[in-house]
Amino acid sequence: MEILAGLGLNELENLMLKYGASKFRAKQIHNWIYTNSVSEIDEMTNLSKDFREEMKKSLLVTDVKIKTKQVSSDGTIKYLIEYADGECVETVLMRFDNRANLTACVSSQVGCAVNCSFCATGKRGFIRNLTYREIIEQVLTIQRDTGLKVTNIVFMGQGEPLLNLDNVLRALNIFNTDFQIGARRITISTSGIVPKINELADMGLQSTLAISLHSSNHKNRAELMPIENKYPLDELKSALLNYVEKSGKRITVEYILIHKFNDKIEDAKELACFIKDLKCNVNLIPYNPVANMAYKKPSNDDIMKFKCILEHSGKKVTVRLERGADIDAACGQLKGKICD
Ligand code: SAH
Ligand code: SF4
Repeated sequence: MEILAGLGLNELENLMLKYGASKFRAKQIHNWIYTNSVSEIDEMTNLSKDFREEMKKSLLVTDVKIKTKQVSSDGTIKYLIEYADGECVETVLMRFDNRANLTACVSSQVGCAVNCSFCATGKRGFIRNLTYREIIEQVLTIQRDTGLKVTNIVFMGQGEPLLNLDNVLRALNIFNTDFQIGARRITISTSGIVPKINELADMGLQSTLAISLHSSNHKNRAELMPIENKYPLDELKSALLNYVEKSGKRITVEYILIHKFNDKIEDAKELACFIKDLKCNVNLIPYNPVANMAYKKPSNDDIMKFKCILEHSGKKVTVRLERGADIDAACGQLKGKICD
């Protein structure tokens, strides 16, 4: 069976040639897939019954399944999606009350090789890359299930997007052209894969690059993120400066605040100093507890002090709202499994 989800208009037109159907049919099917987000060929009601029967012999809209779905008290929805080979990833839909935005937090890999000490995904190790079609299926699944159109995408689910860059860039292209989600509404978050950041700089990426910094001190960062030993802060900083210079874009610096580890006043001052000459906004992420890990959430008082110091240094700072923690859907809590 051939799968329709993930095919662009040209590919659908070529497919329709095989069926002796017109380009207009391809356009209709394209709308059914990306705008109306149907799951079955029979739902494509402006195609004749005979033609649908013919298509059904060799075509399927999708082969992914929703394995579980959990709805948080704050409206966040977490899906565990199962692919054809039985591997699963999580995808999260976040709604923010005061905005019309619907943000999908998508995964780029099953598991992750980077193995950050605070992250549930990292604990699972690396299983495999997702194909670009498997990435976009996550957004289609949300749209099919809710009947809503996703407006924003963050690559902040499982996996390190820059270690699966070809598929991530192809998915990005489909989000732009087929879903009509503008590049500026898409954010790619990375743990800091320096050569890939340099590649993105040369390519003129239009989406937002977010960098998971979490500490501006080599020793502490290495304790949190083993990748610091491969691409240390000084190399990362040069890559980020290069990125900002070539792209002209402001980056987002993500910083998880962990109680008594990196949330002290001197940590804030050190961070302010590290990013002084970097065109960036800062997103502070209060640590979300993960089972069996010793790290703790910061106090509200410490979060505010930290924020204040960075703001005084001239940076725009936001504190990430915790979404879906009651269903383990918050940052870093995604494991891609039903249970341990
Ligand atoms: N691998 C990429 C993208 C996925 S993680 C990256 O690391 O950037 C998305 C964000 O969630 C990252 O900033 C990550 O550091 C953060 N995160 C991971 N575990 C977390 C936890 N337990 N609490 C809060 N944020 C966490
Ligand atoms: Fe991988 Fe990101 Fe988790 Fe680190 S924080 S283990 S890079 S998913």
